[in-house]
Order: sequence, then C-alpha cells, then structure tokens
Amino acid sequence: MSRRLVLLGPPGAGKGTQATALSARLGIPAISTGDIFRSNVAERTELGRRAQRYMDAGEYVPDEITNDMVRDRLAREDAASGFLLDGYPRTLDQVRELDAMLEASGTALDAVVELTADDEVVVQRLLGRAAEQNRADDTDVVIRRRLEVYHEQTAPLADHYAERGLLVRVDGIGAVEEVTGRLLGALDAD
Ligand code: AMP
Repeated sequence: MSRRLVLLGPPGAGKGTQATALSARLGIPAISTGDIFRSNVAERTELGRRAQRYMDAGEYVPDEITNDMVRDRLAREDAASGFLLDGYPRTLDQVRELDAMLEASGTALDAVVELTADDEVVVQRLLGRAAEQNRADDTDVVIRRRLEVYHEQTAPLADHYAERGLLVRVDGIGAVEEVTGRLLGALDAD
C-alpha cells in the first residue's frame, strides 16, 4: 500500500481535514507545513519570525527556509515508514529537494493526490473559515493572492507528477467522509 504520500490542492480544498482523516486510517503522520509555520509564529520562534510576513501576505515562505524545516521533520522517527505531506512541495524547487531528501534515505514517493475544487468554492470556504478561526491570511484580498500564487507556482506540479506516473486526481467537493472514501479508494486503501 502507498505510504509516502503528498496531498496537493488549492487552499480551501480541504487538504488539512482530509490529511487528518487519512493519517488516522493509514497510520502515518500528516505533516502540514502550514501548521508547522503557524505554531512557530504562535510560539514566536526564529523560524516563525522569518516566515510570518510571507504568510500574512499570502506569499510563499522562501524555499530554503521551507526545505530545511521539512528535512528536519522527515528525519524524525515517526516518518521513517511513511508520511502524508500536506502543503509541501509547492514549488518545483521543493519537488527537487524532496526527491533528494527521499533518495538520501533510499526511499521515494509512492503517490501524489490532487484534491480538486473550483476557485469560487474555495474562496467561499476560506471566507467561512476566516470567520471561525480568525486566521490572518483568510481575508478576501489575501485569499485571492494565495489562489493566484497557487495557480502560478503549485498547480504545474500536478502535471509534473502526472508525467512521472505518480498523480491521482480526486474531486474534493462533497461531504468530508465521502471525499475521504474517494481518497482511500484512489490510493487502493479502502
Ligand atoms: P497552508 O496552511 O498550507 O495554506 O499554508 C499557510 C501559509 O504557510 C502559506 O500561504 C505559505 O505562506 C506558508 N507555507 C506553507 N507551506 C509552504 C510551502 N511548502 N512553501 C512555502 N510556503 C508555505
């Protein structure tokens, strides 16, 4: 069964929710770079201080900062036999770095799942979440910028992984459990 996984998709497609569900079902840690950045910001660490201004503007944190953080996280014991990356890689440079990290430990990705959702749906979802969670990057202007950055820098990763035969596309619209079922089916894990 696939164990080293990447979850791709626009902000607001439900990656975080689905990553948590898949992590429980598959027994592998869900690693969200957004969550790691947010907890560093909350704890006022040096990493958080470096990342915050990019996050607040809806821009990507520079690759070298993000890659180092992921390298440290993947080196931890719990990720040795599998993981589900949520929100990484997001640029082609990050794709190359991730490949190199895995190659160094004699492993490779098993599958990349793209959770698809239309822009208008994700904007509405993110505006709803803004009201609930009070995230600094969920304002209308920043949401639109995050989507723009996603289309420019991250959407091309799907084609890249498709060419490598790793991509699986799953419709992200529907009830949470329904989408989880689709994901497990697509990963041959149901
Ligand atoms: P997320 O919760 O995944 O939407 O991430 C929130 C914010 O964290 C993003 O808008 C970026 O500013 C930053 N971030 C998360 N993951 C990455 C990444 N792989 N590369 C660069 N920035 C990231």
